[in-house]
Amino acid sequence: MFLTQGIYDIDELAHYNLHIHTCFSGCAKDEMTFENIVKTAENAGLETIALCDHIYRPDDLPDFIENCKMLRMKRDESDSRVKILIGGEFSCYGTDQYTLKGIELDTEYRLYAQNHFHVTGWQQGEEKTPEAYKELTKKMLHNLFKDRAADTVAHPLNGTYLRKMMGWDADVLGNCWRDDEIAEILKEGYESGCAWELNAAAFSSDPMLVKRIYNIGKELGVVFTLGTDAHRLESIDTKSFTDALKRILY
Ligand SMILES: [Zn+2]
Ligand SMILES: [Zn+2]
Repeated sequence: MFLTQGIYDIDELAHYNLHIHTCFSGCAKDEMTFENIVKTAENAGLETIALCDHIYRPDDLPDFIENCKMLRMKRDESDSRVKILIGGEFSCYGTDQYTLKGIELDTEYRLYAQNHFHVTGWQQGEEKTPEAYKELTKKMLHNLFKDRAADTVAHPLNGTYLRKMMGWDADVLGNCWRDDEIAEILKEGYESGCAWELNAAAFSSDPMLVKRIYNIGKELGVVFTLGTDAHRLESIDTKSFTDALKRILY
């Protein structure tokens, strides 16, 4: 875990943007080169950034490893004062199935997405109901935590990725979680050394869920990270999101 102590002050968390995609992620803009990202992070006054490209399946590992090697080389040659972690947005795509299961990989930051349900091969709920997807989420995260496999859960519990598939509003899955269930899963993650992400995209799609996660997590003392899930340069500066986030949370 990069941060080990719970920080609940958004301005303080905003020194770290721990979810940035480079142009190695197909969905990110070509402008997301290492050099452009670092320069933008410097101008924004960020202390630490994490480069987290998508890695959906173990088959993607060889390319991912090559890309990380290249990014590390650039990082080691760079004299930037920004601390740069070369990590990945790994995938927990089924119950007891996740990218690095049984694989030793020297990586600096393991951000895990569990809810990219729109991706081919991702495990689906037993039924097409929010309740079934909630139960699936619990099982998937439980196994990830049991193996202490993740540093942070990306856009946790958010149902945005089911919107198109199911025709549900973005908050349908979030509304299905009771406070005690949120507390239980947050605690389980925390006890396995895993942080929870306050994700810029997720708080615009389901602000109430993010508010509940933040308030319940703060009460329990869990660790949060901030990530803008930047796919373009203008989304790297965390300050462009903090006002909106504070309006939701405080
Ligand atoms: Zn994601
Ligand atoms: Zn992402």
